[in-house]
Amino acid sequence: MLTDYHVHVGFFNGGLYFSPEEIARDMKALKVERYYFSSTSTGSVPFNFVRREIEELVNFSEGNAKPFLWVSPGMLQHSKNLKCYFFREFYGIKLHGLQGWQPYGKGIRRAFSIARDKNLPVLLHTGEHEICRAGVYRKICCEFHDVKIILAHGRPISETVEIMKECPNVYTDTAFMPKINIKIIKNAGLIQRVLFGSDFPVMQYFFKTPRRQYYRKRVKICEELGVIKHF
Ligand SMILES: [Zn+2]
Repeated sequence: MLTDYHVHVGFFNGGLYFSPEEIARDMKALKVERYYFSSTSTGSVPFNFVRREIEELVNFSEGNAKPFLWVSPGMLQHSKNLKCYFFREFYGIKLHGLQGWQPYGKGIRRAFSIARDKNLPVLLHTGEHEICRAGVYRKICCEFHDVKIILAHGRPISETVEIMKECPNVYTDTAFMPKINIKIIKNAGLIQRVLFGSDFPVMQYFFKTPRRQYYRKRVKICEELGVIKHF
């Protein structure tokens, strides 16, 4: 069974829009039986719009699509325990450092403790930018050792490997991860904590290759390298 831990719906960078219907259709064509998604529209449109996107994708996918709640710092200010955003069952929380989270600030720690209380994993974006490099999250990963944390993209790879070695609760995903980096994690003996994630359909924003074609190629690479499909 193919599970994808990193899928999106909604507006991307204010430009492209990926509708729930489109995503459900693509995932079905790609034979993805289960996928965890969050809405990239979060924060740029009223939450009711996001809510409808989530409900629609769950319905169109006949339950194969499992939502993560994308949380921005503003949402936490608006609702201290995020209560007004948990309108249904969620399977995780997604945080993106470039939205203004301090790597070990009060806000992000509150988001993590909500995840802990609800027993949800946290999908945490990592990138080369100094505010969201994997290494800056070492402290929070250690403190919340009972929360499953997925360092999305695993950037930079050396810092990702270091944290994964230190913290058994830390995973990474293969979204935009070069093959060589997946091999590095494999050689470090950590392949069991690499999740298949694609960031679908965001690749369309960066690459000319048709997104389904790109996706199939990524699945093949990950299968060859023995990337796991479940927690
Ligand atoms: Zn993403």
